[in-house]
Amino acid sequence: MGSSSLVRAFVLLIMPATSSNKPYRVGRSKTGLGLFATKPIKKGTRIIRYFGPILDSKIPEQDEIENKYLFELNGRWTIDGSVRKNLARYINHSCRPNAESDVRPRERKVFIRAIKNIEPGEEINYDYGTDYFKAYLKPIGCKCDSCEKKRKKLRAEARAEAAKVKARAERKAKKADAKVGSAKKKKLNGKHFAGKVGRARA
Ligand SMILES: [Zn+2]
Repeated sequence: MGSSSLVRAFVLLIMPATSSNKPYRVGRSKTGLGLFATKPIKKGTRIIRYFGPILDSKIPEQDEIENKYLFELNGRWTIDGSVRKNLARYINHSCRPNAESDVRPRERKVFIRAIKNIEPGEEINYDYGTDYFKAYLKPIGCKCDSCEKKRKKLRAEARAEAAKVKARAERKAKKADAKVGSAKKKKLNGKHFAGKVGRARA
């Protein structure tokens, strides 16, 4: 086997992993890792299943399990999505998401579905809901694009307001200066005039 065919054999071996027909991949996002579209995803498409062991809140050992990836189906059943194979756990929260969770308590299944057309390279996200938001995101400040934009806008408005206040103060100071200045000028003119007269006399 020549070296090029060896390379080809190797490529063939790893190909199934890299050329998957799944329309997403795990990648770097602002807040760590995220799930990104690798192909156009049409609005309404089921993108991925959020899966893991089903926990029964009536069983104390299962009810005690705590991690960031618990997905509550209803009062009794919860999916423990912390398992490695559950790539949907990488999907980050957004307040203005391009996907949603389609929760099916009776089937004990959750699917993530596109609610907008998603372009390749775009991060996939869904709204984690108010409980999660209040418990985990509000205390540290939500980092989703929508909230970052809102914060940026507020900062810009605050800056503009501060600039306005400063300009007003400067105008006031200038006016006050001008008053003092014209008062001084009158005095100076008086002296200057006196001097001129004096010189003219000499
Ligand atoms: Zn947000």
